[in-house]
Amino acid sequence: MRRSFLTAGLLLLAAICTLAQNASTPSPLSSFDLTAIDKSVDPCQDFYQYACGAWMKNNPIPPDQSSWGRFNELHERNQTILRGILEKQSADNASRSAVNQKIGDYYYSCMDEAAIEAKGTAPVKPYMDKIDAMKDKSEIPTVLGGLHRAGANAFFGFSSQPDFKDSKVNIATADQGGLSLPDRDYYFKTDVKSVELREKLEKHIAKTFELYGESPAKAAADAKTVMKVETALAKVSLDRTEQRDPTKVYHKMSAADLQKLSPAFAWDQYFTTIQPPSFDSLNVGEPDFVKGMNELIAGNDLDTVKTYLRWQTLRGASSMLPKAFVDEDFEFYGKTLRGAKELRPRWKRCVQHTDNDLGEALGQAYVAETFPPEAKARTLKMVHELEAALKQDIAELSWMTPDTRKQALEKLSRIDNKIGYPDKWRDYSALDIVRGDAMGNSVRANQFEFNRQLKKIGMPVDRNEWEMTPPTVNAYYNPLENNVNFPAGILQPPFYDQKADDAVNFGGIGMVIGHELTHGFDDEGSQFDADGNLKNWWTPQDKEQFDKLEQCFVNEYDSFVVVDDVHIKGKLTLGENTADNGGLRIAHMALLDVLGTTPTKEIDGYTPEQRFFISFAQVWCTNETPQQTRLQALSNEHSDARFRVNGVVSNMPEFAKAFGCKANSPMIRKPACRVW
Ligand SMILES: [Zn+2]
Repeated sequence: MRRSFLTAGLLLLAAICTLAQNASTPSPLSSFDLTAIDKSVDPCQDFYQYACGAWMKNNPIPPDQSSWGRFNELHERNQTILRGILEKQSADNASRSAVNQKIGDYYYSCMDEAAIEAKGTAPVKPYMDKIDAMKDKSEIPTVLGGLHRAGANAFFGFSSQPDFKDSKVNIATADQGGLSLPDRDYYFKTDVKSVELREKLEKHIAKTFELYGESPAKAAADAKTVMKVETALAKVSLDRTEQRDPTKVYHKMSAADLQKLSPAFAWDQYFTTIQPPSFDSLNVGEPDFVKGMNELIAGNDLDTVKTYLRWQTLRGASSMLPKAFVDEDFEFYGKTLRGAKELRPRWKRCVQHTDNDLGEALGQAYVAETFPPEAKARTLKMVHELEAALKQDIAELSWMTPDTRKQALEKLSRIDNKIGYPDKWRDYSALDIVRGDAMGNSVRANQFEFNRQLKKIGMPVDRNEWEMTPPTVNAYYNPLENNVNFPAGILQPPFYDQKADDAVNFGGIGMVIGHELTHGFDDEGSQFDADGNLKNWWTPQDKEQFDKLEQCFVNEYDSFVVVDDVHIKGKLTLGENTADNGGLRIAHMALLDVLGTTPTKEIDGYTPEQRFFISFAQVWCTNETPQQTRLQALSNEHSDARFRVNGVVSNMPEFAKAFGCKANSPMIRKPACRVW
């Protein structure tokens, strides 16, 4: 339910340039970049091309990436810093702190490919054997519970979440899951590329089974079975656009009612295995999915379910299995699906795994090295400046009536700010990290996280917790907690540059802050009140007006073609587009406030407002493979980089004025869309 700023898959870290840097710390990235600009392009014709044209020409996609942009550059820089931390801590040294022992030994074990090769498939065998040993369908819930604890994505997910209608308390939740492709539509689309993708997935599944020792004939038959099961699950799944609607994924019921939905699956046995705290009711995200899963289990033989579970187990384990499994996984998920040419070096993958599994342990060293208290203080100051701008914007909106305006201002005033890293670090003492046991460490980390989530059931929501690790180059708004969260990883150049002028920083991190604040008022966030409860605070008249204004964005982004005949999905990306448009507008307002009445001074031949818009656009300079562009448009809530720039500036008369665009320029949209 959280709304993030960027593609969820992007993770990384960085350092603040004011710090004394150790020898291994890479230098900070540049923010405003004159060499990125293509001056042969008219900014009023295609602003993205103008601001990023030369950058795109000079920064081809590295072979181990499927897209390459300024976010990635910062991510890579952060990874290099983390690598330095992890290499230092991976030496077996009795003087390490308990936290450093965990991150160091986790990384060491992940990097020890010789040991991983020597063990072969033995580390995953106990799980596969348990699946094979089932003699009756009644054993499925018990075996599935064990697989879920170990981290496998089979059938559904079970966890905790704040109750949408009582957001101070966590409740248990069961949600749809268990697919190998990014969205349910991938299983049904009939265009050539989609058919080809499914054929390649089937081959990939077969090859993975072969690597585990199956004969080619059995592996091929098993792959067909897996496709059949996943297609049946996809059929009863909500698509990503529907999942954005909180009312479609909130169905509170008793465990007895859940059991009625799926007579063929004994939930009490599942609960006996996973051991959640006792609860009276839970949220069943998608009741139709549970019914569909029941039909699938009831209508197929046990071997079919076993084959599916074996596939999801191997898939989940592949990154800590021998190289043949890793390469095969990359062949499909890296090359075919995303268009990358080469597997990322082992160290990058192991840095990533450590961040995923021990993020708040690794994050402690990262923050100590890169994020001083003054960085936190200056970010907080900018957040307050952006909040003041949004307050002014809401106060002046012509379409809103006083009743709703009062509620909106109340909600804004109650947004909490979290900056850099948690006040209290997560305690990993219950998680054993054993030197030389890469798979065991990964499984235990999954079990630790699974249990951590379950323990929250029935407990008050801890709003100090973070959903992103400190080194992450990303940010999010949480509608259930009504707070904005900015990890240390994004609070650096090119987003924030202490040496740059205000215009550059407001176009960068100012826009990011504005974007997250606006999420509290997008099509989804606006359904939650100041306390984070799913509750309508709109008058019918204002709601109607809001929906009408939002529809303008839906139509605008629906019209953008990103590759071949693939359009952006205007409804899937509506929340992000609302946040991009509102975010840049309030960042611009905040900049004007800060500049005040001081006379406009040009730098490098650009006025402050021109620098603001160029700085904003340059955050999005990106090259990507056509496969990645397609994947993003079909399954991601964020629009393609070019349209995150052009789609926004073309709605802003302030932009046209700053660059002196003529009335019929392509960068002036008629009528302009605006909500906030
Ligand atoms: Zn966002």
